[in-house]
Amino acid sequence: MIRELTCVECPMGCKITVKEENGVKEFSGYSCPRGKMYAENEIVDPKRVVTSTVKLVGGGVLPVKTDAPVSKKEMFKVMEVINSITVSAPVKTGDVIKENVYGANIISAKTVK
Ligand code: SF4
Repeated sequence: MIRELTCVECPMGCKITVKEENGVKEFSGYSCPRGKMYAENEIVDPKRVVTSTVKLVGGGVLPVKTDAPVSKKEMFKVMEVINSITVSAPVKTGDVIKENVYGANIISAKTVK
């Protein structure tokens, strides 16, 4: 099996090839150790920062995101939690809206007075 990945760890965007044969993985195309680590994680348990919005009391929405990448396997569960949240202003960028949601905190991505 051969997989082609684009490393997103820095703007260089190296193209990384992962060849897997008999359970042995061979990585090529990365320019630094971060790239190899990215490819290894991407194969085993890909993770992403989740961005979305929560409801504001009185109307409107507040942009939020996780403060760390979460496993793609858990994204729907994270979204269920986010969709259940309603926040009251004032709130500042970086405020924790909900702690420890599948290993990350949900934080505000905007200041609302
Ligand atoms: S492999 Fe290294 S240099 Fe290439 S995109 Fe990833 S982090 Fe950047």
